[in-house]
Amino acid sequence: MWIIFDLDDTLIDTTGSLTPFRLEQALKKMIDSGLAVNDFTRARFQLWALNKKALSTEEALRIFFSLGEYDKSFLEVGIKEIYEVELPEKFPLESLPGAGNLLQELKDHTLILVTKGHEAIQYKKLEKAGIEPRLFSKIIVSDLKDKGPHYQKICNEMNIPPSQLVVIGDRIGSDLVPAKKLGAWTVQMKWGRGLCFEGLEDYVDFKISKLEEIKRIIDHLGALNSVGI
Ligand SMILES: [Mg+2]
Repeated sequence: MWIIFDLDDTLIDTTGSLTPFRLEQALKKMIDSGLAVNDFTRARFQLWALNKKALSTEEALRIFFSLGEYDKSFLEVGIKEIYEVELPEKFPLESLPGAGNLLQELKDHTLILVTKGHEAIQYKKLEKAGIEPRLFSKIIVSDLKDKGPHYQKICNEMNIPPSQLVVIGDRIGSDLVPAKKLGAWTVQMKWGRGLCFEGLEDYVDFKISKLEEIKRIIDHLGALNSVGI
């Protein structure tokens, strides 16, 4: 099988460990730039609480300012700090439980990583989480929100029949919908942002809450393929 993984909240715990840190950094940067905040701890707590329900870090920041308590002209400073500023030397980030083992155990398959973001930042996250880039036959880091064109290109280049392609990600809209439209199998990782997503269920073939469940799915799909279904 060919297996395409998403990175954030699929192989690494971005929302749980890195995002709260990034939000705190962004808050400090906005304050340094002139944002008036009376109670730093309270503002940080507000951001963290909003982030738990938001579909993206940017959305959490937007809601934070839409509450009307803070001067929203600092929104862009915060967004830039989170998405474009290099990660510092030290930052918190863990892989999801079992990620390293899983990738090793799946090495008889072709593993591909398709992740949204900036190249230097995404590679730094891989390194910090202890996930070796060489485990993947191909790594695509893209600014595009829609991963469909990348999936299509991978299928064309590697001549992959859609029935033998499995895509795993936490976001149904950007990770799984374009995969299903191509005819691939889709697995939703119910982690981080993935916990907030409802709807679009028709595009999800399997849902998992632990990475190790992927092995059983891959075995199952491999068996289907071998009898020509
Ligand atoms: Mg993700």
